[in-house]
Amino acid sequence: MNSPPDSLRFACQPGCTRCCDQEGFVYLTEEDLSKAAVFVGLTAQEFEARYVYRTRHQRRLRKPRGKQCVFLNSEGCGIHPVKPTQCRLFPFWPHLVESRREWEKTAKWCPGIGQGELVQIGAALERAEEMKTAYPGFF
Ligand code: SF4
Ligand code: SF4
Repeated sequence: MNSPPDSLRFACQPGCTRCCDQEGFVYLTEEDLSKAAVFVGLTAQEFEARYVYRTRHQRRLRKPRGKQCVFLNSEGCGIHPVKPTQCRLFPFWPHLVESRREWEKTAKWCPGIGQGELVQIGAALERAEEMKTAYPGFF
């Protein structure tokens, strides 16, 4: 049966960027897009033209050749203070906090899982809820 983990510990590890290098897409809310644009000194339209692939229901960062995210550099995330909602909330994503198996699978490559203070399951589910609100139709 798919049950939540018994306990959750998490503390992001300084210098680590492994989650930014996983196969997948970085989806943006409209607010993520506006904030990132301001941060890099572009208008929302310019930012979108340069970095975003938009379909009818979603927006995601275009993938550059040879790496997963255009903003990942040797120092870490180039837009860290305004990083997209899904990046900010990782690893408290619905399918991870709702499944012990998925949480443990993610712990194999995210060295922050299992570290730090105990996170109350209620608090983790609240963050997961924020993901559901930010990306309607995804979960
Ligand atoms: S993989 Fe885990 S520890 Fe590493 S940066 Fe991402 S969240 Fe932090
Ligand atoms: S936007 Fe930043 S945090 Fe998100 S995947 Fe790209 S480099 Fe990583």
